[in-house]
Amino acid sequence: MIDLSQPLAHGSDNCTLATCPVCGTDYAANGHRFVVLGVGALKRDGPHSASMSEELSGFMHLFWHNHDEGCASVDIVSDAANGQADLQACSFACMKTLLSGLVDQLEENFHGRRRAAVNTAQADEL
Ligand SMILES: [Zn+2]
Repeated sequence: MIDLSQPLAHGSDNCTLATCPVCGTDYAANGHRFVVLGVGALKRDGPHSASMSEELSGFMHLFWHNHDEGCASVDIVSDAANGQADLQACSFACMKTLLSGLVDQLEENFHGRRRAAVNTAQADEL
């Protein structure tokens, strides 16, 4: 189970992962082999150029929007220094599990919110 109680990458800690969030493999001990999902933004500093900037704070989330049933989200990266982060997994299989797990968590959050809303509505009827 992927621990998504906190964003996978946060703040100025270089926004890279030292271990696989799926299986726990230590990248340094594993020859620094991994698959990377890079996220971020560059600040435009010319008509055809851009660069990293301390003015940027990166984020990545999955978001479910449904006008009638409500919304849910999963914070994956927050406050990434210079607007960029790399999420690594030790293998193709673990990256697939990570991406699928993020969507699973979004779905769970959505259904959890729906259950909570139903419970509140039922409590209001009592
Ligand atoms: Zn792994």
